[in-house]
Amino acid sequence: MRAVILERQGQPVQPTTLPDPQPASGQLLLNIKACGVCRTDLHLRDHEIEATKLPVVLGHQIVATTEGGRRVGVPWLGWTDGTCHYCTTDRENLCVNARFTGRDIDGGYAELTVADERYCLSLPDELSDVDAAPLLCGGLIGYRALRFTGDAHRLGLYGFGSAAHMICQVAVYQGREVYAFTRPNDRRTQDFARSLGAIWAGASNEFPPEQLDAAIIFASAGELVPQALRALAPGGTVVCAGIHMTDIPSFPYDDLWEERSIRSVANLTRKDGEEFLALAPKVPVRTTVTTYALEDAEQALADLRAGAFEGSAVLLPTTD
Ligand SMILES: [Zn+2]
Ligand SMILES: [Zn+2]
Repeated sequence: MRAVILERQGQPVQPTTLPDPQPASGQLLLNIKACGVCRTDLHLRDHEIEATKLPVVLGHQIVATTEGGRRVGVPWLGWTDGTCHYCTTDRENLCVNARFTGRDIDGGYAELTVADERYCLSLPDELSDVDAAPLLCGGLIGYRALRFTGDAHRLGLYGFGSAAHMICQVAVYQGREVYAFTRPNDRRTQDFARSLGAIWAGASNEFPPEQLDAAIIFASAGELVPQALRALAPGGTVVCAGIHMTDIPSFPYDDLWEERSIRSVANLTRKDGEEFLALAPKVPVRTTVTTYALEDAEQALADLRAGAFEGSAVLLPTTD
């Protein structure tokens, strides 16, 4: 099969051919139709998080069909032990032996893959392959982050990329006010956020016109944490939704005082996936997607790093 592999961190990903994967017991052999490009893939490529196996086929937002023709989605959570303290208390996202797609298990930058059937998700029929792919990480981990903001009415989104462009739509559907924060002078992304229902959009170092009840940080810049904290009303929460962040600068305790809190969100449970994929067509979440041929994966990652497109990038293994 054709595939793109990461052989050494810090080096470009490379198109290659690999033997067709063979499904083990309980696994499905999957024909990949589309695979979303996630910032986590870029963190692995750029060696901002450690790889656990090399070479590895990146990609954990996989839309594929089974040998029987059924369409499934393969997310980041690829396997759990089902027996640890976390699995047995409804927190399989924190499983101590979890294996993640596109890091511990070869993922979706390929024509074919295998996946444990128990972790594959059903996809809403309303969405095309390309439109469904970004939901599988940005959408559903973003949704988990949104849940941790409780019933916050005024919601800040810091970093308006793949996840935020979907979660903005969900938040507006839920009747919240969305305040979008981008890199300073990124007028194009600020206009994009307003077009998706944000009532205010500005630079990440600006204060919003109203204090926020919660903020979700999708960007990986640690200095956004104290900035978001200073934009919160008393009792507000900052939710850090990414797998990697640069160091967080110190800040005065006064900024945390009055029951403000900071928390992270890690991975997903299958329940998050089921809930979000049922909700997405009701909103409906409309994805803005730039597509790339599989062999152009390195370009897609470079464009993600540079902020060259709005919304999400999706790789297409075939162009038929
Ligand atoms: Zn476990
Ligand atoms: Zn991801």
